[in-house]
Amino acid sequence: MEMRKQMPIPGRIKLEKLRGSESVPYTQFGPLLSDLWSSAASSISEYIHLGGYAIARRAISDMTGDEITSLLDKAGLRGRAGGGYPTAHKWWLVSQSRALEKYFICNANAGQPGGFKEQFLLKLNPHAVLEAIIIGAAAVGAQTAFLVLPPHFALEARLLETALREAREHGYVGGNAFGTGKALEVHVYKSLGGYIAGEETALMELIEGKVGHPRGKPPLPTAVGLFNAPTAVNNLETVLNARYIIKVGPEQYRQHGTPYAPGTMIFSLSGHVNRPGLYELPLGTPLRDLIFKHGQGVVDGLSLKAVLPGGISSAVLGPESLDVELAFDTLHDAGSDLGSGTVIVIAERTCMVDVATHVSRFFRDNSCGKCQPCVDGTGRTVTMLSRLDRLNEKSIDLAERARPSSRRTLTVINAPGGLSYTDTIEGLDKIRHLSEFYKYRGDCHYSTEAATSIQSFLARFTEEFECHRVNSTCDA
Ligand code: SF4
Repeated sequence: MEMRKQMPIPGRIKLEKLRGSESVPYTQFGPLLSDLWSSAASSISEYIHLGGYAIARRAISDMTGDEITSLLDKAGLRGRAGGGYPTAHKWWLVSQSRALEKYFICNANAGQPGGFKEQFLLKLNPHAVLEAIIIGAAAVGAQTAFLVLPPHFALEARLLETALREAREHGYVGGNAFGTGKALEVHVYKSLGGYIAGEETALMELIEGKVGHPRGKPPLPTAVGLFNAPTAVNNLETVLNARYIIKVGPEQYRQHGTPYAPGTMIFSLSGHVNRPGLYELPLGTPLRDLIFKHGQGVVDGLSLKAVLPGGISSAVLGPESLDVELAFDTLHDAGSDLGSGTVIVIAERTCMVDVATHVSRFFRDNSCGKCQPCVDGTGRTVTMLSRLDRLNEKSIDLAERARPSSRRTLTVINAPGGLSYTDTIEGLDKIRHLSEFYKYRGDCHYSTEAATSIQSFLARFTEEFECHRVNSTCDA
């Protein structure tokens, strides 16, 4: 037991088989996971014995919101959900508001296919998750915080509810948190599943009891968020990083990563790779190292054909991008994005038209239905990809009519006289034009991600798409 606390062992771990999970992913520890592991406990008294809740007590009793955000600012913490937005700035914006009511939301409902770190983190150390949420709420001055989980996290919800009950019994949560006289309530909220339910404004709508459609921005949630109050929304890994920074200090935190992307990130590596799993690596680690050094290369000795470095919502990269550093700006410069660190490896001999069609189906099926260009565009993209050989026929535009659920009226795609927006365009340009049309026409980033995704497949694998379209054959 002591050995476990002193020296985390990379690889398969056993915290009572990670709290009863059927399988535990291969896991490579870095500083954040090692810290969580060193205080992973089976009860609150064991967690307290290992130093647990000391940081939350310090944050809520002895530190101001400014002091906490200043530490995060010095550490250079950037959100781990995709955008890489500076966490200190987000928290500062909420903390400066004079609103009487503010909220803090920890989002563990990522919904990204290939992403599996949230479950691991929640099971590894539920009390540390709760402590991190208390720190975040204290920093922004929120009296109410939510931990949002997807519906299939039943075991994780039970673990967190038990931890919350124990914390309440110890007076860490409630009307007099840590004996400071400050009220702090934390709720474990079981949300809807699916990708869009994890979008920050959609989950606020769900908590408010409404249909989970994303809201248009602005206003940003930091100004008008949950119940119209200023709200800080951060994903689970970001919140745990903030706790870690308060614990070890910004200098130690900056020992990993790059000047513009300090710290580490937990990568969920999956697809055609020999050793899929969770890898906590410094930001700035080359993509090549993650796949070939840590993940032990592509399956069956095949060569690499493509990578989705930020999950299926990121633009596809080819082998020429293997030396790109895994960080926010470097991946953006390479034409893709880091997302939430969900890296999917694709081996040679994989049909990229097939992959693109699967990805496009995901976008079509997960569109929430609020904005017509998103609904119509993602639907038509799937139809066109499924019938590349008929791309020049007019009927391909009519095959996928907009579903009637949308609230918006579309006036451009279906032009007067029964003509369609893409009628006069031929070949793969038809898909390109369509995607350009719906790219920025949604209330959330989803339609942009959908369009960017298919555009990246078409740009990188043009010959393969043309082979399907012209010859109806697949070289792969
Ligand atoms: S862009 Fe798509 S997913 Fe986002 S709100 Fe509009 S319809 Fe919904």
